[in-house]
Amino acid sequence: MIDNPRILLIYTGGTIGMVKDYNTGALKAFNFDKLLKNIPELRLLDCDITTASFDTPIDSSNMNPDYWTQLCEIIEKGYNDFQGFVVLHGSDTMSYTGSALSFMLENLGKPVIFTGSQLPIGDLRTDAKENLITAVQLAALSKRGKPLIQEVCLYFEYKLYRANRTTKVSAEHFEAFDSPNYPPLVTSGVHLAINEEALLRPGRRPFKVHKNLIRDILVLKMHPGIPERMVCAMLEIPNVRGVLLETYGSGNTTTKPWFIESIKKTIKKGIPVINITQCISGSVQMGNYETSVALKKAGVIGGRDMTTEAALAKMMYLLGQQLGPKVFKSVFETSLRGELS
Ligand code: ASP
Repeated sequence: MIDNPRILLIYTGGTIGMVKDYNTGALKAFNFDKLLKNIPELRLLDCDITTASFDTPIDSSNMNPDYWTQLCEIIEKGYNDFQGFVVLHGSDTMSYTGSALSFMLENLGKPVIFTGSQLPIGDLRTDAKENLITAVQLAALSKRGKPLIQEVCLYFEYKLYRANRTTKVSAEHFEAFDSPNYPPLVTSGVHLAINEEALLRPGRRPFKVHKNLIRDILVLKMHPGIPERMVCAMLEIPNVRGVLLETYGSGNTTTKPWFIESIKKTIKKGIPVINITQCISGSVQMGNYETSVALKKAGVIGGRDMTTEAALAKMMYLLGQQLGPKVFKSVFETSLRGELS
């Protein structure tokens, strides 16, 4: 008899496991055991589920790289013992954590599936049960004795996505996430429709965990009328190690000389500047319009069709690798974990 696949279910916090505080009316995290008692269906699945939890579950708005490292360490410790990992996480910053883990876990040969919910698991109309049960089922899938999914994913409202392609698009709808520039990996209906061609196939190199992330990154969102003194002050902040410029359309910004000069000055100081679009879908293509030619000439790096979440995580990870400027640029523009087309 073949053993049931072993799945490690990791609870970090989020709405899925929250209850209402009747004094304040606000939702707050509660004990993980109670969460499992609320889903007896988990015992009906053909897999052995072991659970782990953050000591103090958090609302994901408090997520940070220390917690990402904690999560990676739980996965690293259980890597050889489990066929897959399901991470329960608040939806607010799930795409950031999923993106970060995709870079931190190199040569991942097993599924790490993030999920959560818009309504707590105890709520009558909850979306938590389907999300959790299907996420576990997906983590347990295998083909020719190997896990079918070997990357960091996000499962929400009937769709499995590559996590570093996702972004939270709704604070209201059950369909809270989208992956505008990459198709879903699996669509869940009566059957699971698996898009095998879209799955990432890592090489055979050994699994490696990267924990050195650099946080000193400035995310600078362009808007019409952004004052010169503010942009210059932000770019002059001591110890900024990287800048993520959120631009218009296919990578355009104002062509005002003060702006272009301050970007050039930043790059000359050895600080990489990445161009990411504010658009929900599509790609940065510097040079398409006059309003991005100067950025290209100044040495700004094109983020192509990466989400802000993925670009930020990639920058944190690559700055931690201490690469020279040229290598940094070429590695940044290369797909490492399927994060860009
Ligand atoms: N504020 C919650 C969190 O991100 C929202 C959720 O779980 O969906 O932790």
